[in-house]
Amino acid sequence: MSKYCIQFYLLKIELVSDVANIKEFNLNGIAMLNKMIAGLLPHMPKKLVWMFSKEYIAGETLEEAVANAKKLNAEGIKTTIDVLGEFITTLEEAKANKEEYLQVIEAAEKAGVDGNYSLKPTFFGLLLDKEVAYQHIREVVAKAASYGNFVRIDMEDSPCTDMEIDLYRRLKKEFPANVGLVVQAYLKRTRRDIEGLKVIHTPEYPVNLRVCKGIYVEPEAIVYKNNQEINSHFLDDIDYMFQEGMYPAIATHDLQLVEGAYKLIEKHKISKDKYEFQMLYGVTPALRRSILDKGHRMRVYVPFGKQWFGYSTRRLKENPKMAGVIIKALFKKG
Ligand code: FAD
Repeated sequence: MSKYCIQFYLLKIELVSDVANIKEFNLNGIAMLNKMIAGLLPHMPKKLVWMFSKEYIAGETLEEAVANAKKLNAEGIKTTIDVLGEFITTLEEAKANKEEYLQVIEAAEKAGVDGNYSLKPTFFGLLLDKEVAYQHIREVVAKAASYGNFVRIDMEDSPCTDMEIDLYRRLKKEFPANVGLVVQAYLKRTRRDIEGLKVIHTPEYPVNLRVCKGIYVEPEAIVYKNNQEINSHFLDDIDYMFQEGMYPAIATHDLQLVEGAYKLIEKHKISKDKYEFQMLYGVTPALRRSILDKGHRMRVYVPFGKQWFGYSTRRLKENPKMAGVIIKALFKKG
């Protein structure tokens, strides 16, 4: 067993021995622990990190992703497949990533997966050449549209926000039924952004937005930091979208938000084909089941790819809160 494995297992023993007191951890303690684990992970052997990441990644290969998507379909769950990638530094990589997405769409459609696709514009070179990225993403959307399907543009960190909204506006003109965007409830600007999209909204082709809390670490000046405040804006955004007849994809594992969304659905008497819930692969399956059992549409984000290691460890470093998930995995397997 390597030095890192031993350190990690010692950490596990320490944590498990304290499991009875886990609820009494104060917030600072948890934050520090999360930060520590997040910092350690990139230095751990890949195999060990995989043990904890595999629950949240649908595999390294396209075949595994398609097979896992089909398994979710068999439970009545729709999917949105995402190819994991590192930040890219050349336009050659952007082109290769586009080709990979085209193959993913081809394979998933041939296999009859009930699901659509999500992508991150920086994976297509958004920060290298905006126009090249647009052309690549346009090709991906056109491919999905040729199957009557749909591509969601993920929302990345704040330097990308305006560019990603622009991408959506531009693509929706050409593919009104085949493209959607994500908005982040923690950004103070989000409500204005949704209002700004009213000009491209029509009853026939509603604006289609995944509403999530937001995962990146952003400066205090532009985001709400308090969880209650974020939750309140999250629900206000959904409320506004329902009022306007837009299509929200309610992306959360937070029970408070799920219950808040139920109330809004009830309040506006929204039919079940006018919204959906979304969750990440492997996360809170019991809550997912309970939403499905109430007859709501559910879609799971299915990330896959060889670059899962960099992706998982970077996301953990960006947001050490996520390391709490690893702690849970430790207890479960302990
Ligand atoms: P939290 O309060 O963070 O979580 C509630 C509970 O869910 C936690 O206590 C924990 O038990 C569980 N949980 C949450 N996340 C995880 C996890 N990863 N692993 C294990 N357990 C977990 N963010 C963006 O900035 N841009 C995007 O494009 C984007 N797309 C997303 C797509 C989907 C389908 C989802 C579900 C989320 C997406 N996110 C995106 C992430 C989102 O912004 C939040 O960071 C994330 O969903 C956690 O917020 P929460 O609402 O689930 O609430």
